[in-house]
Amino acid sequence: MKPLMREIFTRALLVAGVPTAVRALLWRDRVAILLYHDPTPATLEAHLEYLKDKVEFVPLSEANSRGNGRPRAAITFDDGHVGNADLLPIFVKYGVRPTIYICSSVVAQQRTHWFLDPVAKHADVKRLIRMKNDERLAELAARGFRQDQLNESAIVSGLSAAQIETMRPYVDFQSHTRYHPTLTRCDDDECFEELAGSRIEVERLVGKPCEHFAYPYGIYGPREIAMLKVAGYKTARTTDVGWNDQSSDPFRLKAFDIEDDSSVSWFAAQLTGFTLAPRYLRLGRVRRFCERFRGRSRSLNQTSQAQRPQ
Ligand SMILES: [Zn+2]
Repeated sequence: MKPLMREIFTRALLVAGVPTAVRALLWRDRVAILLYHDPTPATLEAHLEYLKDKVEFVPLSEANSRGNGRPRAAITFDDGHVGNADLLPIFVKYGVRPTIYICSSVVAQQRTHWFLDPVAKHADVKRLIRMKNDERLAELAARGFRQDQLNESAIVSGLSAAQIETMRPYVDFQSHTRYHPTLTRCDDDECFEELAGSRIEVERLVGKPCEHFAYPYGIYGPREIAMLKVAGYKTARTTDVGWNDQSSDPFRLKAFDIEDDSSVSWFAAQLTGFTLAPRYLRLGRVRRFCERFRGRSRSLNQTSQAQRPQ
């Protein structure tokens, strides 16, 4: 969305009281999983300050648990960016226990997340994401980037082993694959290796069970869900918009993909879910978007009817 359009849209939502209405009518006692990548401490602090009196912060493991009458929020981060280490004082200040889904073969290494490497940026990351996995790796290798090579001169984009060790008492580290491929563009062996191998690596790194997973780019299918179950995971987080409760499919947990540099008002607007409408429209998923909201209002109607005096 263009900045001016966004500003008009955000102000209209806020003036109309949409965030408050959404918390009361849709969020209710469910869990919103917030998805960040690499926000600054100042941005995250502003967001948590806005939320702290409105919702209860819970760990991701409670995402599909029974409600307690209050809106709840679980804070998650994808990829394991080195900048996440600077957020630790904010987690402690707000009593938030976040989940950081790490690329387990990239963090704690002299490596760069492939999509952040200048080679990939030059070759058009969006095009590479859509390619078959072996063809993408072959093209990157031909251009001079190998994901499994340790490189003394690499731009280290992931958390270091020492940073993970420091954060371990306050953060749940879970899996976001080994190297961040597009899973649906991997063959069966590549896909299973990324899922099962990552689980082993995360457990080795942090010395705690790895049971939760986040799909790279939010892209997944039935095969990925089946393999996650075989590999021993208990939940998987998508980037599909929505709230979670005890009836949610644990391998299709919904989330709110928050832009890392969001102002507080844009953050509040994103938490309504309405800002994601253009993305659905672009992807031709109008029917799915409408069904989601119809589904919610239908269950709301059923609830309000049940609560009416007979
Ligand atoms: Zn990611």
